[in-house]
Amino acid sequence: MSGRAWQLAFAGSRLLVVEEGSGIRLPEAEELASALETDSGVLGHAEVPLPAALGWPCRAFDLPRTFDPPRGFGLLGLRDVYQRIPDELFRAAGTALQKVDWLRTHGFCSRCGHATRRHRVHEAMECPACGHLHFPRLAPAVIVLVERGREMLLARSPGFPEGLYSTVAGFVEPGESLEEAARREIAEEVGVEVGDLRYFGSQPWPFPHSLMIGFVAPWARGDVRPDGTEVVDAQWFSPERLPLRLPSGLSIARRMVDDFLTRSRECP
Ligand SMILES: [Zn+2]
Repeated sequence: MSGRAWQLAFAGSRLLVVEEGSGIRLPEAEELASALETDSGVLGHAEVPLPAALGWPCRAFDLPRTFDPPRGFGLLGLRDVYQRIPDELFRAAGTALQKVDWLRTHGFCSRCGHATRRHRVHEAMECPACGHLHFPRLAPAVIVLVERGREMLLARSPGFPEGLYSTVAGFVEPGESLEEAARREIAEEVGVEVGDLRYFGSQPWPFPHSLMIGFVAPWARGDVRPDGTEVVDAQWFSPERLPLRLPSGLSIARRMVDDFLTRSRECP
């Protein structure tokens, strides 16, 4: 065992990287230590072991939000490191950010207010006063591509960059199945009903702690009626008429759109 490990250190939601020319990479243990010498300290509960990536163990660290990286280092948002580090490390960084965020937000028991501590066996924060266990948060969300022949229904949320349209998505509510959540979100946000849902795939989404579950569904009935709050516009698009911008390649939404485009080009 070489002792080498990927060091995934976050100040707020930004990842510490080593800058090398126009490229970036993750710091090694000694480099992280030297970067931290310039600052007053890493938070006490910081280190979290993670599954290995590319053959090395991964460790997550929680740096002070105000951490000022020394020369040769930089802090970048997770979206800004996408495709600048290997995909497997990008995925590890997403896991690390979720774990660090969980520790930051579970320092006190939500039932009795006492300070919590790491459980010895479970991956949980434990309250020594009342015994309550706080597990990492995971918010399941459905994401649906509605299709009608060679058209797909894409929608705009109010905060989207100019020209961007994406698939409809929303959080699963208590008591709902994934399918029920998908049908409800589609009906609420764009006003249409869909036929049989087909599972597409899923993706961890660390912004901040979602699990995206993708479905493809054929349009069944109803005119497109954006709800005006979560969706300000929704339109049918075809391979010949696409929006100015499609969702980023890091999202499952883009994989679903690309899959649709491939299928519709194969079956004109
Ligand atoms: Zn408690």
